[in-house]
Amino acid sequence: MIVAMQDQATEENIQQVIERMVELGFNVHRTTGAAQTILAGVGTPEHFEVAEFKVLAGVHDAYRISSPYKLAGRNFRPEGTKIKFPNGVVVGGNEVVLMAGPCSVESREQILLSAKQVAAAGGKFLRGGAYKPRSSPYSFQGMGVEGLKLLREVSNETGLLVITEVMEISQIEVMLPYIDCFQVGARNMQNFNLLRELGHVRKPVLLKRGISATIEEVLLSAEYILSGGNYDLILCERGIRTYETYTRNTMDISAIPVLKKLTHLPVMGDPSHGVGIRDLVPPMALASVAAGADGLLMEMHPNPDKAMSDGAQSLYPEQLEKLVAQLRLLAPVVGRMIA
Ligand code: PEP
Ligand code: MN
Repeated sequence: MIVAMQDQATEENIQQVIERMVELGFNVHRTTGAAQTILAGVGTPEHFEVAEFKVLAGVHDAYRISSPYKLAGRNFRPEGTKIKFPNGVVVGGNEVVLMAGPCSVESREQILLSAKQVAAAGGKFLRGGAYKPRSSPYSFQGMGVEGLKLLREVSNETGLLVITEVMEISQIEVMLPYIDCFQVGARNMQNFNLLRELGHVRKPVLLKRGISATIEEVLLSAEYILSGGNYDLILCERGIRTYETYTRNTMDISAIPVLKKLTHLPVMGDPSHGVGIRDLVPPMALASVAAGADGLLMEMHPNPDKAMSDGAQSLYPEQLEKLVAQLRLLAPVVGRMIA
């Protein structure tokens, strides 16, 4: 940590700051210039708040220089994390992994057809919510366990893996036998109790960026899961809320290379929730891969006009096929491939 004192700070002010830094476990290096004193705190005390120093008497500003996320930081595993799933699927390797399917599991017929279309298009995972976080309590809330069973059944039939959203701790046990990857939705990115529990399971987790979360907050949420011992974690940019209202959210493409730089964890893009408008999904999917995404999570529905949730952003099956053909051409340009 660096503490820059005000020009007019007194020796007493300076000593007070030094004392507090030493108390926390910092080794303090003092530099006094013509007017200003700079205090550099070396070491990594477990608990300290930069904000506490910013308000001490005589302090101009204080800056954290060490990263607050130890396990999520790129330094922890500079070579990057590869997550191995059944069927030989690896997320975080050279392959850009495609996950697609409807927003919600609605019926056996709907999810079976979706699975066939996703598999035909080259997808590796079938997505589909069995437990749905809806903005309104009157909207369709998902099929629950029935939905999980259907996901497993049709995925086995089509050779796909299953990713689906977990909304609360009590669902973890119920879901384990049916799924290959837990999805933590944007609304739960800071449900710290849920994150802690997911740190104790031995099944991969995909953590979505919260609707108004900063990149640092995403990484601190990741830290909750990693610190429980679960290192099979994927991050996902899915758009954030900005002042723009044309699109459902603003797909923050830049978050993808930023995260790739800051963390060793694989980073995916969800262009469907990122823009909320079907025809804008392919360009954002291509942009995500060009920006270095390790995979895409996309909504596709056999009949989007009749979907029970997120129909407007769900691709028609033909659109998904066409998009995958384009992604296959694009991926090699950035040194990646799509199987
Ligand atoms: C979803 O994937 O259907 C979903 C609810 O996403 P998010 O949490 O990003 O809103
Ligand atoms: Mn959705």
